[in-house]
Amino acid sequence: MCGGARSGEGGRVIEVRELTKRYGRTVAVDRLSFVVRPGAVTGFLGPNGAGKSTTMRVLLGLDAASSGEALVNGRRYASLRRPMLEVGALLDAGAVHAGRKAFDHLGWLARGNGIGTRRVAEVLERVGLAGVARKRVGGFSLGMRQRLGIAAALLGDPGVLVFDEPVNGLDPDGVRWIRELMRALAAEGRTVLISSHLMSEMELTADRLVVIGRGRLIADTSVQELADRFGRGVRVRSPRPDELTRVLVTAGGTVESANGTAGGGRVAGSPESGGLVVSGLEAKAIGEHAAAHGIPLYEVTPRNASLEEAYMELTARGAEFGAAS
Ligand code: ADP
Repeated sequence: MCGGARSGEGGRVIEVRELTKRYGRTVAVDRLSFVVRPGAVTGFLGPNGAGKSTTMRVLLGLDAASSGEALVNGRRYASLRRPMLEVGALLDAGAVHAGRKAFDHLGWLARGNGIGTRRVAEVLERVGLAGVARKRVGGFSLGMRQRLGIAAALLGDPGVLVFDEPVNGLDPDGVRWIRELMRALAAEGRTVLISSHLMSEMELTADRLVVIGRGRLIADTSVQELADRFGRGVRVRSPRPDELTRVLVTAGGTVESANGTAGGGRVAGSPESGGLVVSGLEAKAIGEHAAAHGIPLYEVTPRNASLEEAYMELTARGAEFGAAS
């Protein structure tokens, strides 16, 4: 993991360090470590039950870690002096008193946190609820409640934002709106962490991905890196895979066996099938390098795997993949 996450980023950092959370015999989160930095949307991705909500709850002081820690701006949530000014969160949009009006709900939150009422009007405007500010929350659609929850998260103008499955149950307009807002918040230099079990959603929203499975880190990578690694490789088969691997690595390619056992930049062992996945070199270049060394090729197929497929492959494999520097 990178050191010095606290310095030089205006303190807008989430750090999860060796976090473990057990519920009885269930290990919900298992020695999980990652850092989320400002200026990007980071998708926190994993199948249902992977431990995303648990991690977020510990981060927000709603649950205690069994061991390890989850920090906002270098501190545990409980020791933040004015938490709403440092971290905003949306965990459960349903958690608002139905009889309360939108403005009053936010006004109550603002007062309790030393935030002026002017800010309430500002955030209602930002989430598109200014027109229904005096309406009771009980009559709000799921999308409107979601917006209200986001308004509450933004109230203290925090540098760190955490949203648990924010697009669940929203219609396409709502999904698009949330996506654009998340991107705008990151562009303002905030640290934005959004959980989802859907790669299709994260692909369109996130710049970086922290993928977990069974409470453990599977990948900490940029979306681009993942796409390059899984989606845009070229599948190559040869009766002389080891020799071909050496040639292609020398030529600047990254080679792994088609069953996915080697890491980036490392030379794969000899897979039985002779199947390799090459990235960083196009099919044409691969053919030319092979020909120059007299190595026969049985297959050269550019892959167009989607990120969804990459995600399935990663979570099925369950092992850690290239923890990013
Ligand atoms: P995700 O958010 O990725 O869907 P969760 O963090 O909700 O995953 O759950 C991770 C694991 O921890 C699951 O096996 C879940 O059943 C278990 N779990 C979560 N919260 C509790 C709890 N309060 N009591 C017991 N088990 C829990």
